[in-house]
Amino acid sequence: MPVNVLFAALPERWKTYEAPLKSALTAAGVEADLRMEFPPEKVDYIVYAPNSEVQDFSPFTRARAVLNLWAGVEDVVGNETLRIPLARMVDHGLTQGMVEWVTGHVLRHHLNTDLHVHGQDGEWRRYVPPLAGDRGVTILGLGALGTACGQALVRLGFKVAGWSRSPKNVPGITCLSGEEGLREALSSAEILVLLLPFTPQTGNILNAATMAQMPKGAVVINPGRGQLIDDDALLAALDNGRIGHATLDVFRVEPLPADHPYWAHPRVTVTPHIASETRPETAAQVIAENIRRGEAGAPFLYLVDRERGY
Ligand code: NAP
Repeated sequence: MPVNVLFAALPERWKTYEAPLKSALTAAGVEADLRMEFPPEKVDYIVYAPNSEVQDFSPFTRARAVLNLWAGVEDVVGNETLRIPLARMVDHGLTQGMVEWVTGHVLRHHLNTDLHVHGQDGEWRRYVPPLAGDRGVTILGLGALGTACGQALVRLGFKVAGWSRSPKNVPGITCLSGEEGLREALSSAEILVLLLPFTPQTGNILNAATMAQMPKGAVVINPGRGQLIDDDALLAALDNGRIGHATLDVFRVEPLPADHPYWAHPRVTVTPHIASETRPETAAQVIAENIRRGEAGAPFLYLVDRERGY
């Protein structure tokens, strides 16, 4: 008997995921019937995007797991109708995309590339940047994405610190945790990268008090979640020079409203939540492997801890 796999995401996603998912399931040795519609009581696995129409999981009486297509789970983790395991997306393609986006934006600010991009006016501006070894970059969040970005920055020679909930040991990265660890992480953050999930504990983690602990003129790069930042405090810090620049990919409201002060601010760069996308070819392999594990009675990969919220 094939397992019934419901693809619960926006219809336009079906076009990009159908073929990769089918071939990954076959390659994983799983006989599956993959569709966008099933009677709920016949569904075995739900491949899920939190913006899909499925918001009530209670009719899926025999489903064994919800396999999220996104790394962020804040829109589903608190769903009280969800009583089965929830796995988040950890995808090689998504990770690689984030590494490229983060290193690109760190290098832009490290090298002060803007000085020359916007300075083609006949003036010979000799700004020589420090070497990476003299630049402190801090990453809040040392998970799948934060660790990969940190390791890439270490390979480029940066002085990298990382902060997480539990203590970690990553070669080349000064790993910190706890409240005292956050203070130390911020104090060396000439460039700060936010790669935390949004949970009740991480909301507004970048606020007036935490920004005051960073070196004056530091750069903030946020590909994590908009809710990590107290927006009014950041705008004030940009206006008074405490923060030199903010490169923001994610926002409380998306798309960012056209009249939001971030758009017009001279020291803000807005990117439209494109830091990294789940890549269908690689993500399909992760989903298929988790269904294979479910069928073999093996533990699922990348399970979300509902208590922690990520
Ligand atoms: P992850 O593997 O779950 O890692 C999360 C990290 O944050 C872990 O190191 C965790 O600590 C740490 N953390 C969580 N709560 C904390 C707290 N209260 N205090 C200190 N550290 C805390 O997540 P990921 O896959 O790296 O993804 C991170 C986030 O990136 C996602 O949640 C999503 O919001 C965002 N994202 C954005 C894009 C985009 O295109 N902009 C794309 C993908 C993902 P422990 O290691 O101790 O658990």
